[in-house]
Amino acid sequence: MSKVAVIGAGPMGLAAAYELTKQGKQVDLYEYDDRIGGMTAHFDFNGMNIERYYHFVCGQDQPLFDLLDELNMRDKLHWVDTKMGYYYNGQLHKWGDPFSLLTFPHLDLISKFRYGAHMFFSSRRKKEQWKDLDSVDAVKWLKKGGGDKSYKILWERLFKLKFHHYTDNLSAAWIWARIRRMGQSRRSIFQESLGYIENGSETLLKRLQQEIESKGGKIHLNTPVTRVISNQNNKVTGVKVADNEINYDQVISTIPLQYVAKMIPQLPDEHLTQYKQVQNIGVVCLLFKIKKPVTPNFWLNISDNNFEIPGVIEMSNLRPLPEHTVYVPYYMPQSLEKFKWSDEQFIVEAQSYLKKLNPELTDSDFIDINVSRYAFAQPICQPDFAHHLPPMRSAIEGLFIADTSYYYPEDRSISESIHLGKQLAEMTEL
Ligand SMILES: Cc1cc2nc3c(=O)[nH]c(=O)nc-3n(C[C@H](O)[C@H](O)[C@H](O)COP(=O)(O)OP(=O)(O)OC[C@H]3O[C@@H](n4cnc5c(N)ncnc54)[C@H](O)[C@@H]3O)c2cc1C
Repeated sequence: MSKVAVIGAGPMGLAAAYELTKQGKQVDLYEYDDRIGGMTAHFDFNGMNIERYYHFVCGQDQPLFDLLDELNMRDKLHWVDTKMGYYYNGQLHKWGDPFSLLTFPHLDLISKFRYGAHMFFSSRRKKEQWKDLDSVDAVKWLKKGGGDKSYKILWERLFKLKFHHYTDNLSAAWIWARIRRMGQSRRSIFQESLGYIENGSETLLKRLQQEIESKGGKIHLNTPVTRVISNQNNKVTGVKVADNEINYDQVISTIPLQYVAKMIPQLPDEHLTQYKQVQNIGVVCLLFKIKKPVTPNFWLNISDNNFEIPGVIEMSNLRPLPEHTVYVPYYMPQSLEKFKWSDEQFIVEAQSYLKKLNPELTDSDFIDINVSRYAFAQPICQPDFAHHLPPMRSAIEGLFIADTSYYYPEDRSISESIHLGKQLAEMTEL
C-alpha cells in the first residue's frame, strides 16, 4: 500500500488526507498546532466554542457544497438574509443594495450610477473571463469602471487598511473574484444571503478527521515537519519529524509557502526564490463578547480617518450565539511596527472603536475578549500572479506543494482549500 504524508491540517490538508484515504492509501497528516483547522480552527472562548477568525459561506462555494453532500451533512449548512452597513466619516449607513447606494449622501448621482453598474456587471461576469483582468492593475480597473470619485470615497481607505503599501500592485482579477463571490451570494439584487455551518466550521473539520481516522489515516498534532527528504534521483523518500526520518512514497505540503524554502531547501533555486517572493498580510483579530449589539449588520465596512480597521464582523448577526459576538480584524504586513503591539494595546483601541460605532456601549458591557494572530493570513496577488508560482507538482518526484496562494484568482476560503486539497490528492494518482 502506497504511503503518503500530508503536511498541515487546515482544510486543505484535511481534504487531501480524506481523498487519499478514499484512494486506499496509508496516510499520516502532520500538524504543527495542538488542534486541526489552521485558520479555521476553533477555540474555547470561555464556554463558547468558536473560530479564532470569522467564517461565513457564500452561494458560490461549490466545492464545499459537494463535500457536504458527499458526507451527507448538507443539512448543517444554514442561510441567512444578512445586513451590511457602511460607516463613513462618523455616520452609519445602510449598504449592499441599490436603494442604500441611491440614498448614500457622499457621492453624486453619476458616480453612484457608475459604481453600481460596475459592481453589478462585475458580479455577473463569467468565471472563465478572469484572464482578461489578470494583467490589469486593480485600482486602475476600479477607477476606470466606477469612476475616480467612487474609488476615493468607497475603496481607498478600505484598501489602505487591508493591503497597505501593496495597494498599487494588486491584480484586478483577484479583486474582481472577491466582488463576484460576494455579489453572487444574494437572493436578489436587494438581498444578500450568507451561510454558516451549524456550530461553526469545526463541525466539518471534525467530520473529516473522523472519516480519515476511520479509514486508517493518522493525524499527528503538535508535530511539525522540519524537512522533506529526497534521494539522488530527485525522488521524495520521506519527512523529518523531530529527530526521526520517516519513509513515504509521496508527500503533500499545504503549509504557507513562506515556510517551504526552509523545509525543502533542495528544491531548485528558481522555485525557492518564487516561494519567498510571495507577499503576505498578517492579521491580529480581536473577538468580543458584548452585552449589547454593536449594529444590526453582519458586515460593517468602515471608512473613517479615526478608525484603523477596514470593518467589523458581528458574527451573532449571522449565526445564533449565546452572546453578541463581534470580530475586529487588523490586517497588516508583519513588518509594520503596529504588528508588535501588545494584545492590551489592540484591545484598548478596538474597544474605543466599538464604543464609537454604538455610543450606548459602556465598559461594563464587554464580557470577554480574545486576541488571535496569524502571520500569513492572506497572500497578496499582484497582476499575473499565477505566473509567479512554481507548479503544484514540484520539481521533486512525488512531492506536491500548494497553499492559499494557489486559489488565484479566487479569494481565500474553506471551499477553495477543499478544492485544492482534492486536486493535490488526485495528482498523486497520475
Ligand atoms: C481573518 C480570516 C477570515 C477568514 N474568513 C473566511 C470566511 O469568511 N470564509 C471562508 O471560507 N474562509 C475564510 N478564511 C480563509 C480560510 O480560513 C482559509 O482559506 C483556510 O483555512 C485555508 O486552509 P489551508 O488548509 O489551506 O491553510 P491553513 O489554514 O493556513 O492551514 C495550514 C496548516 O499548516 C500548519 N503548519 C504550518 N507549518 C507546519 C509544519 N512545518 N508542519 C506541520 N504543519 C504545519 C499550520 O499550523 C496550519 O494548521 C478566513 C481566514 C482568516 C485568517
